[in-house]
Amino acid sequence: MAHAAVEAKAERFKTQHFMIRGRLFKGLQSGQMQLGSLADDERLKMILPQACCYCASRQFLTVDHLIPTSRGGENCGENLVWACRGCNSSKGARDALVWIAERGTFPPLLLLRRYLKIAVGLCQDRGVMHEPITNPPPMPFLFEAIPLSYPPPRTLCLWITDRDSSATADG
Ligand SMILES: [Zn+2]
Repeated sequence: MAHAAVEAKAERFKTQHFMIRGRLFKGLQSGQMQLGSLADDERLKMILPQACCYCASRQFLTVDHLIPTSRGGENCGENLVWACRGCNSSKGARDALVWIAERGTFPPLLLLRRYLKIAVGLCQDRGVMHEPITNPPPMPFLFEAIPLSYPPPRTLCLWITDRDSSATADG
């Protein structure tokens, strides 16, 4: 929903965007739809500019775990992103979404999507997809860190490097 709104450069979320969300929700619930495969995100990682996924810096890049290994995050491709040394050390062993929220920013949508897919995958592996959210099972990520409401689409970006180019375009 947010992806479509940002691509259409919408000022605010409109009926058609809510319809996309509704259709995906029903599709996922009935099992007729699946979240896009993580392979798509791996492909994007190769196409998108090699830059820190948090601040777009191209310097002093290191490999960072979205969900830290110290919390049970896996040491595999989908959990690994580029981060500059500054962001990596500032983030430390915190969960990426927690750290981004602490800085008062909203994650780029493609980063959030990757994170959500990992979170859904972990829940599916552990058979807790139908557990009530009011009593979350112990997981390597924080349910509370997942944003439930989104700021207006014009303030969102798909990837951190888009934020750079839109800022330049706006003058
Ligand atoms: Zn950075």
